[in-house]
Amino acid sequence: MALTGVQIYKFLPKTNCKECGFPTCLSFAMKLAQRSTELSACPYVSDEAKQNLEAASKPPIRLITVGTGKKKIEVGNEVVLFRHEKTFVHQTGIVYRIKDSDADPVAKAKEAASYTIERVGIDMSIDGIAVQNDSGDAAKFAKCAADIKAAVDVALILISSDTAALKAALEVIGDDKPLIYAATVDNAEAMIELAKEYSCPLAIYGNGLEEVAGLTEQATKAGLEDLVIDPATRGYCDSLTALTQLRRLAIKKSFSLLGYPVITFPGEGAESADDEAMLAGMHIAKYSSIIVLDNFLPAIVYPLLTTRLNIYTDPQKPIQMAAGVYPLGEPTPDSCLCVTTNFSLTYFSIAGELESSGFPSWLLVCDTEGLSVLTAWAAGKFEAERIAKAIKDFKVADSISHKKIILPGGVSILKGELEDELPDWEILIGPREAMAIGSYLKQNWS
Ligand code: SF4
Repeated sequence: MALTGVQIYKFLPKTNCKECGFPTCLSFAMKLAQRSTELSACPYVSDEAKQNLEAASKPPIRLITVGTGKKKIEVGNEVVLFRHEKTFVHQTGIVYRIKDSDADPVAKAKEAASYTIERVGIDMSIDGIAVQNDSGDAAKFAKCAADIKAAVDVALILISSDTAALKAALEVIGDDKPLIYAATVDNAEAMIELAKEYSCPLAIYGNGLEEVAGLTEQATKAGLEDLVIDPATRGYCDSLTALTQLRRLAIKKSFSLLGYPVITFPGEGAESADDEAMLAGMHIAKYSSIIVLDNFLPAIVYPLLTTRLNIYTDPQKPIQMAAGVYPLGEPTPDSCLCVTTNFSLTYFSIAGELESSGFPSWLLVCDTEGLSVLTAWAAGKFEAERIAKAIKDFKVADSISHKKIILPGGVSILKGELEDELPDWEILIGPREAMAIGSYLKQNWS
């Protein structure tokens, strides 16, 4: 049972030292009760108090790992219902389902696992392959899983209702800690034993939340904690309702039997590949931890990967570029020098336009803590002094033979101050929008 802020406060040192980032121990306790901070933020909590506060500081949704190494999927550990309250922690794992009866399952796995797109400097791809025992043949299923494991470096999910087939597959890929799917009321005991024997996470499939809670209770009593829930709802309305209830019960009511990541199969409730994509997008937003796709098409996966990136980017920590001087299109010392901020979207907008402008360029990126040009200027983080310092720190003079710098048009107001900071430089005012930089250079840079 979660503790209230006042109950937590009783265990804190009550010195109001502020080292946790909050003005008083009481405000820290209130935030801890809301799970908006972590107990480790206070360095002065005694071991005894830590034990008592464990329930309050424990994530309401257990962290589960599927797979091993670099390509493992980590899901759970979420502490809020809405992203704006804090952030979502572990992004939804996107997995592609392949059946052992498919023609050339290894080729399908390779095609899906090798698909990568780059956005704002981040390479994105799917996270796993689910291998389904569609043939009913245990040996064929095990071979298919082993072949896929050998061919691709992603997390695996093994899908079968036959424990003998699962055991055969686990014998060959058990060390990879695949997710076993799934324990039901009919086979729970055997599935739980299998998951324990191979130390793998287990999916729980229950018709309704009550049945799910009964199965998770059975598993935890047997000593198995690494669980993933499938509430057996498909389609838009039912799955949204079930996933929202699960998240609410885990986070708001601290109902630990439902405090596990959730797996969904949007293709099973869809009428077409497009429909599956829309359902998958909804599940990424609310609140699926792993989605298993039946259709692998770039036109489907691309928007899902970008949706996931947008939702799981911490709104308090914008995606940033490293500050520095970036060469775009093999510039020479005579090439133009533009300046911008280190907000990734800003950088990639201007960099893309410069690269396609036909003018090889230098782009000076100032550290503005990830803020865009106007926001950074308004916050006092993109000003003349900082630009002048960046020119010096990054030894811009070593790269160029002139002393001209192009300011974003939106901050032309900085021209005078920058002339004071850089008296022997010519300060040019570029366009307000990145898309106009090409025509600006045609007219103003020879
Ligand atoms: Fe209180 Fe600990 Fe925060 Fe200091 S760091 S104000 S002792 S909760």
